[in-house]
Amino acid sequence: MTSEALPTLKHPDTPLRLFSDYHMHPQGHRVQRYTQQLLQPWADSARRLGLTDIAFTDHDRYHGGVDFDEIDRLRERNPGLQIRAGIELDNDPVHSPAGRRWIEKNWDKLDFVLGSVHFLERADQMFDSVPDGAAQFQARNIDEIYADYFRRLRELIATGLVDSLAHLDLIKIHGHRPTADVGTLVNETLECIRVRNLAIELSTAGWRKPVKELYPSDSIIELAMKKGIPFTTASDAHSHVQLGENFANLAYKMAEIGIRQVCIFEKHKPAEVTLQL
Ligand SMILES: [Zn+2]
Ligand SMILES: [Zn+2]
Repeated sequence: MTSEALPTLKHPDTPLRLFSDYHMHPQGHRVQRYTQQLLQPWADSARRLGLTDIAFTDHDRYHGGVDFDEIDRLRERNPGLQIRAGIELDNDPVHSPAGRRWIEKNWDKLDFVLGSVHFLERADQMFDSVPDGAAQFQARNIDEIYADYFRRLRELIATGLVDSLAHLDLIKIHGHRPTADVGTLVNETLECIRVRNLAIELSTAGWRKPVKELYPSDSIIELAMKKGIPFTTASDAHSHVQLGENFANLAYKMAEIGIRQVCIFEKHKPAEVTLQL
């Protein structure tokens, strides 16, 4: 394993080195069977960026493409890189019931399950589609939408099938802000996460969306820190060239806010790793 590009993840103002990306979609947005040709470029990108721990987390509706034997082969071909078998469990009213059954069946083969809410009242469109999903917010009470979103998140947590919550405040994606104080909603949700010993992710994806902010917001991160909730780091890459995107800025943010540990998972078992300087 080479270390040629390690400094790329090191923000000039911070000594923290990020080493893990726990949110990526080798299949993109269609079923593509796992093969070495599909997966190896992700391992190559990880190595180039100095990442040593990655998790494949395709959407549960593409579980048909996931092949655990191919992940094992990739592990053999890439010693020095931890490769976690994962999935992103959605609240998709059409496909996720089957996704949940698949996760239950393959629980022991999976290292990591991300939980995500992408659907509100419409069953046929993810609200986070850009730009079309923004129409779901038009002429609606934004406070009610926020309450609905966090309620769905707690429902997902209650399935007991999730290890870490993805992009916790995704509902802000198009820039809609609540007028009411959402502190109670957020606190209740983080409490559900804490009592189940789950993690939440710090996702750089928000920086490339219309809201142009990290997921989640600083105030949510600070409350999560107070509760002792651990964090995974994530780019939500839909192409291997997006892997670790904006991690230098994320490292800066984490240093600024005082996060020194990152959570990793092996067979759903969390472990906190102190970041190297
Ligand atoms: Zn997602
Ligand atoms: Zn995703």
